Amino acid sequence: MKIVRADVIVTCPGRNFVTLKIVTDEGVYGIGDATLNGRELAVASYLKDHVCPTLIGRDAGCIEDIWQYLYKGAYWRRGPVTMTAIAAVDVALWDILGKVTGMPLYRLLGGASRDGVMVYGHATGHDIPEALDRYAEHVEMGYKAIRVQCGVPNVRSVYGVPKDNGMYEPATKGTVEEHSWSSEKYLDFVPKLFEAVRAKFGFDTHLLHDVHHRLTPIEAARLGKSVEPYRLFWMEDPTPAENQAAFRLIREHTVTPIAVGEVFNSIWDCKQLIEEQLIDYIRATLTHAGGITHLRRIADFASLCQVRTGCHGPSDLSPVCMGAALHFDLWAPNFGVQEYMGFPEAALEVFPHAWRFERGMMHPGDAPGHGVDIDEALAARYPYTPAYLPVARLEDGTLWNW
Ligand SMILES: [Mg+2]
Repeated sequence: MKIVRADVIVTCPGRNFVTLKIVTDEGVYGIGDATLNGRELAVASYLKDHVCPTLIGRDAGCIEDIWQYLYKGAYWRRGPVTMTAIAAVDVALWDILGKVTGMPLYRLLGGASRDGVMVYGHATGHDIPEALDRYAEHVEMGYKAIRVQCGVPNVRSVYGVPKDNGMYEPATKGTVEEHSWSSEKYLDFVPKLFEAVRAKFGFDTHLLHDVHHRLTPIEAARLGKSVEPYRLFWMEDPTPAENQAAFRLIREHTVTPIAVGEVFNSIWDCKQLIEEQLIDYIRATLTHAGGITHLRRIADFASLCQVRTGCHGPSDLSPVCMGAALHFDLWAPNFGVQEYMGFPEAALEVFPHAWRFERGMMHPGDAPGHGVDIDEALAARYPYTPAYLPVARLEDGTLWNW
């Protein structure tokens, strides 16, 4: 079963997505997500100009060998662009394998380890009453785990909070927005948010929160310690994780669980965090961390240290990633939770999918492969639109972590 074509499809049904489609000489095809938010065309070029030509004629069933070929053969290892491109190839090949064997991806991985996948949704408000209203809506929809984010008084445009009352979308078309940030105001305010959630809804739902890399390690330690009574499911990205040893300081001071890894690309980004048990959940995604073949290695390594998975699942990863992730989650013995933000209606139409949501749980469906397709004619009606993630500055103008 030889690869005869590999095409890159860029489309913007609400936001930009990059999709790789691999076709075999038997007429079977598979697709993989190659979307790197804000840097989409870099991956499209990496695939088109450097990867696709080398795939032609290869056996589509040699998934591991092709992964090693693209990782070791490039000489330049790791990095978000390379690993996203490799992931797209990998997921497309697993999709093909599922289709030719007639099996859903989760069965190829070893079968379901659970009945369904617990997902967490986003409850966000410009202030606490609005955040509580959104939280109530998620409880009503059956969510068992809910991330809560809220505007901070006297801080302009906080991450995670929509500009209007629509769906949250961090990227802005055509321009780079600048947000302001104050760790002091945030640290004073955010425990009040959790207190309000627990006072109104009790402890029946898992409560999650994303710090979005904004704090220093000692500030993160203070936050974790101060919110222990509210028993968070996790405190996400409390500080940037390039320096993995920095998490020791947070760990020494708090038992609030920690989740890290949505910007990670390989097992080397989280090796120390996992082996020293400095985190509780690893958030690496299929699309940015080398696909099924590599994320499975990260999950297996994490399982040795009782670290569970909590895959990143924003709307800037395409429905193809969502589908493949749900198969992975259904299989992973050390699965924790899956993020699910939902998608704009146009994106759901461009990517017909077998996955389904019901009362806070998701299932990838039983279609062969990962169960997500692309309507190429419809995709062509949504051309690429330049869009950029914002940056954050402290109140004195210093560039900070967004
Ligand atoms: Mg996050």
